[in-house]
Amino acid sequence: MQKSTNLSEYRKSCQEALGDDFLREAMDKFATAYRANRVNAFADMHEKELIAEIAESKDAAIARLPELFEQFRAKAEAAGVKVHLARTAGEANEIIARIARDNGVKKIVKSKSMTAEETLLNHALEDEFEVVETDLGEWIIQLRHEGPSHMVMPAIHLSRHQVRDLFSEVTGQQQESDIQKLVKVARRELRRHYAEADMGISGANFAIAETGSIGLVTNEGNARLVTTLPRVHVALCGLDKLTPSIHDALRVLKALPRNATGQALTSYVTWITGANECATAEGGRKEMHVVFLDNGRSAMAEDPDFAQVLRCVRCGACANVCPVYRLVGGHKMGHIYIGAIGLILTYFFHGRDKARNLVQNCINCGACKEVCAAGIDLPRLIKEIHSRILDEDGHPTYSDLLGKLMKNRKLFHTLLRTAKLGQAPLKDGEGFLRHLPLMFFKEHNYRALPTIAEKPFRDMWKEIEPKLTGTKLRVGLFAGCVQDFVYPEQMAAAVKVMDHGKAHMDFPMEQSCCGLPLQMMGETAHAAEVAAQNVAALDPARYDYIVTLCASCASQLKHSYPRLLADDPAMSLKAKQFADKVIDFSSFVRDVLGIGADDFQNVAVTTKTAYHAPCHLCRGLGVVGTSQELISDSGLDYVKADEEDVCCGFGGTFSMKFPEESKELLNKKLDNVAKTGAKQLLTDCPGCVMQLRGGARRRGDDLQVRHIAEALAERLK
Ligand code: SF4
Ligand code: SF4
Repeated sequence: MQKSTNLSEYRKSCQEALGDDFLREAMDKFATAYRANRVNAFADMHEKELIAEIAESKDAAIARLPELFEQFRAKAEAAGVKVHLARTAGEANEIIARIARDNGVKKIVKSKSMTAEETLLNHALEDEFEVVETDLGEWIIQLRHEGPSHMVMPAIHLSRHQVRDLFSEVTGQQQESDIQKLVKVARRELRRHYAEADMGISGANFAIAETGSIGLVTNEGNARLVTTLPRVHVALCGLDKLTPSIHDALRVLKALPRNATGQALTSYVTWITGANECATAEGGRKEMHVVFLDNGRSAMAEDPDFAQVLRCVRCGACANVCPVYRLVGGHKMGHIYIGAIGLILTYFFHGRDKARNLVQNCINCGACKEVCAAGIDLPRLIKEIHSRILDEDGHPTYSDLLGKLMKNRKLFHTLLRTAKLGQAPLKDGEGFLRHLPLMFFKEHNYRALPTIAEKPFRDMWKEIEPKLTGTKLRVGLFAGCVQDFVYPEQMAAAVKVMDHGKAHMDFPMEQSCCGLPLQMMGETAHAAEVAAQNVAALDPARYDYIVTLCASCASQLKHSYPRLLADDPAMSLKAKQFADKVIDFSSFVRDVLGIGADDFQNVAVTTKTAYHAPCHLCRGLGVVGTSQELISDSGLDYVKADEEDVCCGFGGTFSMKFPEESKELLNKKLDNVAKTGAKQLLTDCPGCVMQLRGGARRRGDDLQVRHIAEALAERLK
């Protein structure tokens, strides 16, 4: 559970997690195995179609939650179940405590329920009743007085040796570290509690309105004991679990275990309709209650931006693939709910004080969105929460000033030109700053920083602008600030390649930063103004394509601009037309200009060349394999590094806020490249070049890091 009161405290707590070698190793192993298992699990299915169907059916259910609740209530009550609706977490806990009191309950057994974690149910009950968790992971963390570090595997942060010591203490006998033996200890210890308990509390994965049934998806079988043996059963579930029919639930069930653990199906799926027979209950029939929790869900259902959050089926996949979660674990990347969805839910369920630091610990890599079983646009919503928090708290002076500076293009560019003059004594002659400014000392010193170029691309343009011969297409070039002012040679190389493909290029001088850094800082209003300037500068009516060499810019221009400008009557249509014409460099070169093997020198180069797939290219734009094919076509010896598409740790302002995490991601990436023996590393994003080149330089790696355009330009016939 996150208790840090400010960002620097939070950052320190994340650093502690980074220093936990066991955690790092366990998370690495898990993340690697999970990726492979998930691919296998979905191998025989149309994964994207299934996810789209789930999203559609969940949206339809979310739009009619009150109606589904009434339908469920009528059906369940007809089957002898008492149905409650709790507006808040406290109310849910009070209802459950009252049920226990009214039934003379002394001991309660519980199966795993994230909703019960959300309400802190155990804390509310433990003074009055004996409460025993029966899911192995939940029991372990209950004994340790901790919260879960994963929604599906709550004790993933612990080693078997830690569990051995814990079980030795609990049983008063020395236990062994063998996992099977530890499971037996838990089974033996927990059995008597099932038999002694008066009440069982479960969650519910589904609440089926047409039948008044609940559905439980588990792997350990403990939920069956919890819901059958005690004379009272209470199911606590969020209103978002309401689903019209069993058919809708079965559709989710196809994705849930595959996404959660890479299993085709869990060991147990339990459907309960009505209060069943129970030998220990008075009258031979169990007392059954279903407590629905609202806790902000009804308001979320009305929110056009955030209603989609209620689609979540709690599979935990968004944590499994998150590079930040993999580094720091769930106790740091979450409050109660963890991972990408946790960053969002914390704001709604636990308040902005708990969410304020968490939402900044997202590198915006898009890995969570790619696997989400419910198709939730998690990275965008995380940025949106950050922006809302800033609106509510007041924007920090530095980010507001930066926003004002960036939307004043002339002033921004003048400052960059002035900085170029100031850096003269600090340059090392190889494109890096020899001495870093004071603010980049210590934890920021893991990568060398580049100098600002002698001549920005905008000042070169008139000299290198190709003559119009055999023109095929009209192309607007978008540079972004890094390629314009730091790496203009990347742009110049791209112009050479596109000229070879007979594109007619134009570089409008009024263009500015794409605005992504502002959005990452939560400065949405400033980002919208910058977007409007760029759309006006590169009027889509003038071009067939708007090409950028920066994957992050491309993703921002294509996906964020229509949303940022949606409420601007003068710009909204233009922003959509603009976005439709945006394309990344590699796709444009290969798929539009048709540049291939015949365009390159036919002498092969034996230097091994690895590729880093930028997050915003492979996930943001869905461009997969295009650049690698171009590299091979150009005659370079392409070698695939492990985790080629995992984030390099740049993330713009993320690397400034969380340098320790950025450094770890960078080193992992460079280690994977080193294993291939590659001497050249190519990528499609100047930010990634900055991170990887600066990191390789600091480490002393024998590795040339370049933009793919530079390598292709060199290899043209
Ligand atoms: S965008 Fe990347 S870093 Fe952010 S929550 Fe999703 S997976 Fe994690
Ligand atoms: S947000 Fe998506 S990936 Fe994350 S737990 Fe929910 S359904 Fe699973």
